[in-house]
Amino acid sequence: MISLKFPDGSARDFESGVTGLDVAASIAKSLAKKAVAVSLDGTVRDIYDPINADAEIRIITRMDPEGLELIRHDAAHVMAEAVQELYPGTQVTIGPVIENGFYYDFAREEPFTPEDLPKIEAKMREIIQRDSPFSYEVMPRDAAKKMFGDMGEAYKVELIDAIPEGDNIKIYSQREWFDLCRGPHMPSTGKVGKAFKLQKIAGAYWRGDSNNPMLQRIYGTAWATDDQLKAYLHMLEEAEKRDHRRLGREMDLFHFQEEAPGAVFWHAKGWSLFQLLIGYMRRRQQDWGYVEVNSPDMMERTLWEQSGHWEKFAENMYIAETPDDRVFCCKPMNCPGHVQIFKNGLKSYRDLPLRIAEFGKVHRYEPSGALHGLLRVRHFTQDDAHIFCTEDQITEECVKLNEQVLSIYRDFGFEDVRIKFSDRPEKRVGEDAVWDKAEAALKRAVEVAGLTYELNPGEGAFYGPKLEYVLRDAIGRDWQCGTVQVDLNMPQRLGAYYIGADGEKTVPVMIHRAMFGSLERFTGILVEHHAGHLPLWLSPTQAVVATIVSDANEYAETVLARLNAAGLRAGADLRNEKINYKVREHSVAKVPVILVAGKREAEERTVSVRRLGSREQDVMSLDDAIAMIAAEAVPPDMRSNPQATEAA
Ligand SMILES: [Zn+2]
Ligand SMILES: [Zn+2]
Repeated sequence: MISLKFPDGSARDFESGVTGLDVAASIAKSLAKKAVAVSLDGTVRDIYDPINADAEIRIITRMDPEGLELIRHDAAHVMAEAVQELYPGTQVTIGPVIENGFYYDFAREEPFTPEDLPKIEAKMREIIQRDSPFSYEVMPRDAAKKMFGDMGEAYKVELIDAIPEGDNIKIYSQREWFDLCRGPHMPSTGKVGKAFKLQKIAGAYWRGDSNNPMLQRIYGTAWATDDQLKAYLHMLEEAEKRDHRRLGREMDLFHFQEEAPGAVFWHAKGWSLFQLLIGYMRRRQQDWGYVEVNSPDMMERTLWEQSGHWEKFAENMYIAETPDDRVFCCKPMNCPGHVQIFKNGLKSYRDLPLRIAEFGKVHRYEPSGALHGLLRVRHFTQDDAHIFCTEDQITEECVKLNEQVLSIYRDFGFEDVRIKFSDRPEKRVGEDAVWDKAEAALKRAVEVAGLTYELNPGEGAFYGPKLEYVLRDAIGRDWQCGTVQVDLNMPQRLGAYYIGADGEKTVPVMIHRAMFGSLERFTGILVEHHAGHLPLWLSPTQAVVATIVSDANEYAETVLARLNAAGLRAGADLRNEKINYKVREHSVAKVPVILVAGKREAEERTVSVRRLGSREQDVMSLDDAIAMIAAEAVPPDMRSNPQATEAA
């Protein structure tokens, strides 16, 4: 007999060799019907596998996260069968599950075209309809190699060779079609269901190596229910509409070009937005007791050797040699520079915590395939800061940081923030007692804020634990932005110390933190989150005065002067064009307020106010309109502080 423990804590004895399906049936017939796999001590297994030892058991259905993985995995097999049935001579290679779906890489002379996808999809539905049972057998290595070799499946032979000696070679079959696979699988192809869609075709090198042959990758998405699929496809559509690269063009914010991969050409409007972000953060940091510094963009190799970057980060660094035979690196991080500033001049415990901030531009070489608009660049500006403090100050600083970070996200319209907490990894530096302190401080910081966090055990940096802040945007996508890291290592490595209360030289703790993260990336996220409709205070152009007739030109100039005098970023459109044409153009550019002025408005000293995205037009007195726009244009951090508003 074996004892199986259920999620509710109860345990029952079963005959050894019982299957997951038997166990499910012993609980309820309906559960047996829904069961697609079983989790034994956290490992997912086939529902028909005999269970021979005590374990914690959980029955997996299609609605569980593990069930979704299986749906996608099985869908990949089904797609491979469909492709081989439709296009004989195609070789199969690998087909993993990925976020939101799956892909399979095929070797075929002729390229797949988008027109092939509906055909493959139809064939997949046929295979799913057949509801062929999945079954597997373990084969001797040589027999498996010979079998795939005889079939002309050279890639599979190579895959078998890569399986470590002693591991089972498993072959999963669905009717006559089979594939090399570790498993597990659901009981039959029918369980894949109908909620899937093939999305696109892309080239991919065998094993990701550009020296290898190019394969054809077909991507698909699969879900447990039609509603989930619909919601996902809708999200993708929305994401496309919001693509910051397109909006960036329409709003005239920035561009990229081939000569500067991963580097942004900021246009006037984009740069204005960028500077607004910096201005906002600068005000907040001043309130929070930071000093702002600027450290060199290039520093000599020796410094990067001391910091450990030369050894650990060299392949991401831009390196330059000068005629005097010195080697310099473009900074990939600001931290070593800040340690130099800390070290310059003797520091005492009375100087701590010392909070050093910099809008530092860093340079990191990323493979060109990884670059993606503003979201992934090679040259970016961090709102970086390092807090040098004593061990006793860690908690207080972390609690403050956490509150600050969340208040910033709120100001930009992000209410849904998740926190990931990564604690000590196996390979680490520093005493356990200090790690205890650092981890407790970070935990306390999120607890004080009344937040839950997701634990990433062992995922901290080798020098300390970290918090990561993940923003959920308007269409449900998650973006990791800010981080807070407690560092117990770098100050020592770079020889930083302060004189403690006891008169002894003491190594400070260094907290690394960024709130926006990368300003380039944050700008991209903001544009997508708001679909270009930035809040008024962030809009590069806040209002445009557009005339209906040239008779109103003079009045429009007056309106513009009044807007500018109120500190607003505004423009006037006096072109001899139809008003609807003007409104359309400024709407595409996402100008939040258009003030329409005609003859009548000029006579009555009024304006017709049109809001972006609205067809309504409100006629207001010029004074009221300007007061309203000016009030809305006050940045949120200055609204909560009436004094600051006055000063502005
Ligand atoms: Zn498989
Ligand atoms: Zn740092």
